[in-house]
Parts: sequence; C-alpha cells; structure tokens
Amino acid sequence: MYRDSQETWQAYIQSILLVAAATLLGQPIHLYLEPTNLVMIYLLVVVVIAVRLGRGPAVVAAIFSVLAFDIFFVPPRFALGVNDAQYLLTFAGLLLVGLVISALAAQANEQAQAARRREAQTIASYELSRNLVVAPESTAIAHVLRTHVSGLFECEAAVLLPDESGSLRFAETSFPLDESERGVITWAYLHQEIVGPGSDPFRSTRDYHFPLKTAQGGQGVLVVRPHSADGRLSYEQHRLLESFASQTALALERAQLAEQARKAQLLQETEKLQTALLNSISHDLRTPLATITGALSSLSEEEPSLDAATRRALAESAREEADRLNQLVANLLDMTRLEAGAVQVHRESCDVQDLVGVALARLTKRLRQQTVDVDIPQDLPLVPLDFVLMMQVLVNLIDNAVKYSPPGSAVWVQAGLVDHYLHICVSDQGVGIPKDQCERIFEKFYRIPHGNRTAGTGLGLSISKGIVEAHGGRIWAEPRQPKGTVFVVALPLAESPQEETHHE
Ligand code: ADP
Repeated sequence: MYRDSQETWQAYIQSILLVAAATLLGQPIHLYLEPTNLVMIYLLVVVVIAVRLGRGPAVVAAIFSVLAFDIFFVPPRFALGVNDAQYLLTFAGLLLVGLVISALAAQANEQAQAARRREAQTIASYELSRNLVVAPESTAIAHVLRTHVSGLFECEAAVLLPDESGSLRFAETSFPLDESERGVITWAYLHQEIVGPGSDPFRSTRDYHFPLKTAQGGQGVLVVRPHSADGRLSYEQHRLLESFASQTALALERAQLAEQARKAQLLQETEKLQTALLNSISHDLRTPLATITGALSSLSEEEPSLDAATRRALAESAREEADRLNQLVANLLDMTRLEAGAVQVHRESCDVQDLVGVALARLTKRLRQQTVDVDIPQDLPLVPLDFVLMMQVLVNLIDNAVKYSPPGSAVWVQAGLVDHYLHICVSDQGVGIPKDQCERIFEKFYRIPHGNRTAGTGLGLSISKGIVEAHGGRIWAEPRQPKGTVFVVALPLAESPQEETHHE
C-alpha cells in the first residue's frame, strides 16, 4: 500500500497540496516572524512527505517549497526575484536539506521493503519445504511445486519428471505446452541449465525452464510462464524459483531413494521367502524320501532275516511317508493357488455336524491314540460354506491339535452361534502356543520349535487362514487354561446383506 501511493501521481499532487498548506499556515506567522524562520515549516513538510510518500514527491516538495517561500514570503513578495542576496543561501539550504532528507527516507524505505521481501521469501521457502516433506512420492511432490509456484507468483507452471526410460513426461501442468517448447525443456534437462526468454540458445522462448538438479543428476524440469505484461520474472523471483527448484530436486531424490529402499526390502523378503520355501521343502521332501528308499531297499534285498511282520511294517512306513509327501505337495499347491487368488469358494448350505464328521473320518488313522469330543448343538442352522475347503481347515486344526498334544490327551471340537457367526472351536491340552506368537503361527512357514516334536511344513495354518478369509470369516488362536490351545474359526452365517435376505 505504502509503495503504491509512493509511485502514483496522487502522491505528487498530495505533496504539492501539503506545500500549499504550509504556505497558508505561514501567512499569519509571517506577520510576527522573520521570513527565514518559515523555512522550518517547509522543512517539516518535506520530512513528512519523504517519510510518508517517498523520494519523488519529497524532491518535488523541496523544489515547490523553495518557489513558494520565495514568492510568498521573501521581498519582493508575489514575484520570483529577491532583494536581499542572503536569501539565496536560505533557498540553497532549504533545497539541499530537502533533497538529502528525501534520499535518506527513500533508502530507509527500500531497506524496509527488501526486509519485507526477504521475509516473504523465507515464508514461501519454508512453506514449500514443509509441504514437500509430507508429499509421499514424485507425483505428489510435482503437484506441491506446481501449485506453490503458480499460487505465489501468479504465473502458469508445469513440472516434468523423467519416466523409467528417462524421457520427460508431464507430471503436473496448468497450461498447454506446444511441441516447440518440448525441445527447450529437453535441452534444459539434458544440459542442466536454466533457460529463459532471451537466454542462449533459445532467445525466443516465452517460458523459464528451471532444471531440478541434485548432485546425483537431473530429477526433472520446472517450466514457468509469467503473467506480467513484459512476460519476465524479476531478479528476486528468478532467485526464489531457483531455490524452489533445488529444494524440490532434493525431495524427489529422497522419494526415489525411499522407493529404491522399499523395492530392495521387498526383494530381500521375497528372497527370504524363497529360501525358506526351499529349505522347508528340501527338508520335508528328503525325510520321507529317505525312509521310503530305506524301506524299499530292505524289502528288495530278499533278506531271509526279514519276517513277514517286519516286511509289512516296512511297507506300511513307506506308504505313510508317501502319504506325507503327497500331503506336502498338496499343501504347496493349495498355498500357491490361494496366493494367486485362484481358489473359488463354492458356498452351499452345509450341516456342521456332517462337516466335522467327514473331517474326523479323514483323520481316523491319526486319531488312533486320541479321543476327540464333539459337541455340536442339534439345532444349529445350515451354514453357507465351501464343504471341501472348510473340511480341509478342520483337518488341519484337528491334526495340529493331535500332533502337538501328548498321546491319549483329549481334543474337543465345539460349534455354536455367536452374533450371526458360526464359531467352530478346536481345543487341545497340548504344548500350547506363547501368547505373543498366536498371530505369527498363521504366517507362511512359521513354526514354533517345540523341541523333539513333529514334522510339518508351517503351511497348514496359513492355508487355513486363507480359506477362512475367503469365506469372509476370521481364524485365531488363544491359549487354553490351564494348558493347551484353542483355535477358533468364525464364519458369517450369510455371505453378504443380499444373501441374508435371500436366505431368509
Ligand atoms: P505345521 O504344523 O506343518 O508346522 P502349521 O501352519 O499347521 O504348520 O502350524 C504352524 C505352527 O503353529 C506349528 O509349527 C506349531 O508350532 C504351531 N501350532 C499349530 N497348532 C498348534 C497346536 N494345536 N498346539 C501348539 N502349537 C501349534
């Protein structure tokens, strides 16, 4: 506001009016005082004008003051000449002091304005960096820069970032750029130099091109088209945009490094998974294969010492191990299909009693030394589920309950309704699972070392989890008091609200 008034013609009119007012004020005083004393009134007016209205109006006021003083107060009055030459000195003094004061006032003004501009720039830089910090990836960073620049400078702005192949593409733009500008942008990007109107080798370009560069290389280009009448940026704006460009380049580099780190971690995890898979499979394949090979070679040696019972036992153990192999391969296939989303859940209304019965029948051999207590209410409604897949879940859970419990201990299978969900609980009195591992056991290949115990792949529970979740349900484990574990499968009684209506 200050600056505007200083620069307009009104300021000059105001300064002349103020000199006129001083002259009017001087008229009555002139009757009592010597004319030289009236110079003080004019000086006061020049000072006020210099401070309030700036340098130009103050210079005008100083000149008009000398003229007014001469015409209205110095004899001969109402004429330009002077009778007494000593007044020339007064005129010179008034003019000189007026000019010096206006120069000082202008300097002070400029300094104040520079300080204000610096403050505005610092705030703008701060705001940009604050927004850049929270921008998660390169497109968001480009958006922050573009909106910030076009908002701050009232100009059009565009940000181009290199794609995977290294060629520049628009990440953000507020105006259409024609093909001829493309060449300039690419040049600025490749040479890492600022190109603007009048700068070599693209003198005729309308836009300013700021490369976003860091020590690692070019991260992109900021294109700015000013709205000002001459289409030019001021020196200050130019400098500020340069600093914005480097701040943004650093943010882009940071985002890129974060992305690389994420990818590296992903790769590491995939590799870890593959190694775990290989270790697990090679161990689990080798053990049964070794048993089978041993049994078969003993059987084929026609050893006379082997009686019929031993032969049967050998054949039986070879068959059991072959079963285990089969199970392992089936598990791996299931896991792969689940992960690929290739498992289709075919829901049909099923009787839970049947489901548990068939699962137990599948485990008859395993359950030779174990009793399983089944407690399922008679009035349990039919539940929509995929019979084959859910049976596999129950087989896994009951098999685990048996595997991780001492022989002869009890295993319970219970079912009931809880808030529109069917809960099936499989409980045992076995070794138990530490509370902090109750979630981890559902991860692929995760196994708790239970000392001497049992072979396994660490896949059964993750497959079960995948199946239950595909039904829209949940599965979890919790310690059982005083010992053992309870696995709970919670399945929705209706697939979705529509189905609910359908079933009703
Ligand atoms: P596997 O039994 O083939 O190792 P699972 O995915 O079925 O793989 O189980 C993962 C791990 O969870 C097992 O290695 C075992 O440590 C633990 N676990 C599962 N069920 C039980 C249970 N009923 N009691 C104690 N630990 C269990």
